[in-house]
Amino acid sequence: MRTMISMFILTTLTIGLFIVGCKKDDSHTPSTGYIEPADFLSDKKYKMLIVEINYVQGYKPTQEAVNNMVTFLSARLNKPKGVKVSINSIASPRKSSFSHSDVVHLEKIHRKHFPLGDILTAHILFLDAGYIQDTDNTKYLGMAYGATSIAIFQKTVSDYSGGISQPSNEVLETTIINHEFGHVLGLVNNGTSMQTNHQDNNHGHHCDNEECLMYYATETTDIVGNLVGGNIPELDQNCINDLKNNGGK
Ligand SMILES: [Zn+2]
Ligand SMILES: [Zn+2]
Repeated sequence: MRTMISMFILTTLTIGLFIVGCKKDDSHTPSTGYIEPADFLSDKKYKMLIVEINYVQGYKPTQEAVNNMVTFLSARLNKPKGVKVSINSIASPRKSSFSHSDVVHLEKIHRKHFPLGDILTAHILFLDAGYIQDTDNTKYLGMAYGATSIAIFQKTVSDYSGGISQPSNEVLETTIINHEFGHVLGLVNNGTSMQTNHQDNNHGHHCDNEECLMYYATETTDIVGNLVGGNIPELDQNCINDLKNNGGK
C-alpha cells in the first residue's frame, strides 16, 4: 500500500519556513482498505468525502482554516455529494512529543469514519506536542503518513503563528493542511503521475516551483513573507495538471 510521510519544518533561527522531503514507509491503517489518490480525485468509486478531524482539547484548528481546506478540496476533487467535515475533541495523550508509531496508534484509537459505499473518508489529528525528531532549531508542523491520514503538530503551529512577525493562525494552519492533503492526492510523483517533470529531486515528493504549495523551501523569507502577508500558497499549474490527469479537476 502506498504511504508517505511529508513534513513541514519551521526553523527558530530566523523567520524561515522549511518544507522537507517525504519519506516512504510501510505502515498503514488496515481498516481503511486500499485507497489511492485517484479515489480522492475522481468520482468513479467515491461521491463524497468526509474529513474527520480529531483535535486534542485546546488545539482546535480555526474555523477559517477548516473552511479553507474544504474550499481547496472542493476545487480539486470530483465529489458530487460534497466534502464534509466532522470535528471532535479528544483528551490529551499526555506526551511531550509524538513518534510516527504514536500517531498511528492514536488514529487507531480515535478514528471513527472509514470508507464505506460511495463515501470516502480522511482523518486528521491535531496534536498538543511536537514531532519526536524536532530539535531546538527545526520543528515539524505536519505529516501525511498514510493513504488517508494526516497529523498536524498543532502546538508547534500555534507557537509559530498568530504573533508579531508571524503568519496568522489561519494562514499557517491552512498552508500545512493543504500541503499535506497535496501528498494524500499523490503529489508530487507519488501516486499521481507527472504530466511534465516538475519534481524537486533533491527534496522528495515536492514541486520545483517555489511559488507552489508543494514546494520544499529552506529558510525562504519569500515564503514567510507571503504567509505573513496573508497569502496562502496555491498549487501551480503543473501540480493541477497532474491532479486533473488522475481524475481531479
Ligand atoms: Zn511535503
Ligand atoms: Zn507544483
